[in-house]
Amino acid sequence: MDSLQSLLYVLQLDFWTSPSHPKRFIDIRVPFYSLQDVKVYLESNNIQYSIMIHDLQALLDEEQRQIKFGRSMENARSTDTFNYATYHTFNEINTFIDQLVAENPSLVSKIEIGKSYEGRPLNVLKFSTGANRPAFWIDTGIHSREWVTQASGIWFAKKIVTDYGNDPSLTATLNSLDIYLEIVTNPDGYAYTHSNDRMWRKTRSPNSGSSCVGTDPNRNWDAGFGGGGSSSNPCTETYRGRAANSEAEVKAIVDFVKSHGNIKGFVSIHSYSQMLLYPYGYTSTPAPDQAELHAVSTRAVNALASLYGTRYTYGSIITTIYQASGGTIDWTYNQGIKHSYTFELRDTGRYGFALPANQIVPTAQETWLALTVLIEHTRDNLY
Ligand SMILES: [Zn+2]
Repeated sequence: MDSLQSLLYVLQLDFWTSPSHPKRFIDIRVPFYSLQDVKVYLESNNIQYSIMIHDLQALLDEEQRQIKFGRSMENARSTDTFNYATYHTFNEINTFIDQLVAENPSLVSKIEIGKSYEGRPLNVLKFSTGANRPAFWIDTGIHSREWVTQASGIWFAKKIVTDYGNDPSLTATLNSLDIYLEIVTNPDGYAYTHSNDRMWRKTRSPNSGSSCVGTDPNRNWDAGFGGGGSSSNPCTETYRGRAANSEAEVKAIVDFVKSHGNIKGFVSIHSYSQMLLYPYGYTSTPAPDQAELHAVSTRAVNALASLYGTRYTYGSIITTIYQASGGTIDWTYNQGIKHSYTFELRDTGRYGFALPANQIVPTAQETWLALTVLIEHTRDNLY
């Protein structure tokens, strides 16, 4: 694997999914100038492959056309006329957040938990109907190119205010739990995916001694930091950073979780691969609560599949995908947040990160069913 990894680096390949199990496929984006070398390498080593996306740029051009059309059709003067079925910029999302707060002042507030490296606000929506409640946290978009996650986060926010007072379960939830939702968890990266490189994953902080920019914010947490499944090379997509919590975007959540002190459930949402994962990622030692986390995951993925038949795999991170150290939910779990989960939303690679916008709302709807299982279980089993 070492020679493969270094060859892939020379060829400037972009792993969309990482090597995990010898029998599992991996998805790699290959620049045009490396195509021939990669084909030769794969064929001479008898490695099977197929081409999922012949021309990513064509997909991204179509995505841009759709965004322009979506914007032209949108009357974003209220969250009722906001277009949930298209992708939005960081500024558009912040406008949405402010509108949602203005429309629902007794239910929703905006908290700025810090600033990104480039100085953008780290905005968190708080849904609350009473003081001093335990809380459930949801974040989307910590990897900036996973656009269906931020778009789903927007939909969740509107879903919560729509259901409160109408849906008995969500109403009961918000009468005993607060929900926190950070939609754009890596704003610098997200802005960069709109302005420069749609496939940007990491933060945008510079690295001393390297011309490569950014740290993987899902390898930067203080849980097995520096271990297997994270890289010390700033030029890789899984660069862990110079130290745990070096990234402002991570540190802000760490400080918030610690100062809150009563967060009982924590879900960090990624794409893609259609998976529901629980700790651990850095160690193969099972989490003490594995049996419960697994049972709840079974119910959550079944709820998700009930809407459109979308199939998810599930289990601990290390057994289901691969070893990954310094990840978000290993840290939250070790903080005592038993109900800690990560989603990998649609799809399984047909479009990957370039998921067409007409899948945003179905993805958000089905994910909400699974989230509801996790939130209700947390609500009904406070500890
Ligand atoms: Zn991710």
